[in-house]
Amino acid sequence: MASAEIAPFDSSALGASLGAFERAADLLSLDPGMRSFLAKPRRSLEVTVAIRDDAGQLRTFDGYRVQHSLTRGPGKGGLRFTPEASLEETTSLAMAMTWKCALVDLPYGGAKGAVRCDPERHSESELERITRRYAALIMPIIGPGRDVLAPDMNTGEREMAWVMDTYATQTGLLGDAAVTGRPIVLGGSAQRRSATGHGVAEAVRLAARAFALPKPLRVIVAGYGNVGSKTAELLLADPEVLVVGISDITGARYCESGISLPKVAEVLDGGGAIADVEQGERLLPHELLELDCDVLVPAAVSGVVNVANAGSLSTRVVVEAANGPTTEGADAILADAGIQVVPDILANAGGVIGSYVEERGGELALESGRAAGIISSRIESAFHATLARAEAMSCSLRDAALTIAIERVADAHRVRGLFP
Ligand code: GLU
Repeated sequence: MASAEIAPFDSSALGASLGAFERAADLLSLDPGMRSFLAKPRRSLEVTVAIRDDAGQLRTFDGYRVQHSLTRGPGKGGLRFTPEASLEETTSLAMAMTWKCALVDLPYGGAKGAVRCDPERHSESELERITRRYAALIMPIIGPGRDVLAPDMNTGEREMAWVMDTYATQTGLLGDAAVTGRPIVLGGSAQRRSATGHGVAEAVRLAARAFALPKPLRVIVAGYGNVGSKTAELLLADPEVLVVGISDITGARYCESGISLPKVAEVLDGGGAIADVEQGERLLPHELLELDCDVLVPAAVSGVVNVANAGSLSTRVVVEAANGPTTEGADAILADAGIQVVPDILANAGGVIGSYVEERGGELALESGRAAGIISSRIESAFHATLARAEAMSCSLRDAALTIAIERVADAHRVRGLFP
């Protein structure tokens, strides 16, 4: 792939996570030693993923696996394939995984992986070679009990099966997998597929109750992919919820009386996109964010709520289904406008809770409903703890959630001590 096809490195992502970390560390009066320890990843591996493309040409891609924390348990976090991937972004996302796992009290550290490539431009066999080569290169630091991968942006069960197979054939260890989010035939759980959406829907319900939002509850889901569509479908199980807006990169639809999701599913199942949906008002994806609703759920890419549009939002609450959808500058504008933000490390933690059930639950994970119950109860406890902390510290939900998580990781580190 020519370098011109790849976006420039974005170091702002790490700056924003560190900024949020420093703010929370100030609220906790965290000592300088612990502060610098937690601000840095334990280990970062940069690799050059070389493959032969379908035409036989040698091609290289930058790859990363960052383990931000290994204090509360093994590394845990997704693997993403995007043209924007960078070491800075991967580090920032690994740090977010540490706080996410600690907030919902999972016995994991935090990690993230990425390959800087555009999956749209590769055949399935090229993607398989990229995935397997990447897995082989990061082999020394991953595996059950060390660091366990999962799906993230542009990766899913297919990629997890390739990583699992590469790991197993290289190590000869066929029992526990180095990934969660596996296909069901390889020991995955049906609930893992909908786990993130399940957690987001739970967070929306909790926010509606906590902030006394009106009924029917009008929700906009910006980014109708796997997480967004699951969230919307699960929310509609409640007759007092209306999904009034949805979007993907092709377009957006807004309808005051609610969008019929089965009709949307018909279009998408037939290979169409949101731009092909014949319902409601037709808009551009970014225009949808500013329309009237009670809860806005940004469910796709990061940075969609930013200083350019934060002042124009017409919602009471933002529930962050994506990782990092609200920029630091936008956070301040939303706080001034009295708009509550349920942060990503809380709202989208259902995915990693589902991974935990898959990894540790064994056969039990396959029992229908079990994962859903565990996701709901963990999100609920974390939500109430975050609300209480925000009130006690007079801070935002994001800062409150971060203080709880940082405190847990710092406590775990103090108890373990340093060796050697
Ligand atoms: N990629 C998901 C996340 O960002 C899931 C991670 C996992 O299950 O390890 O939370």
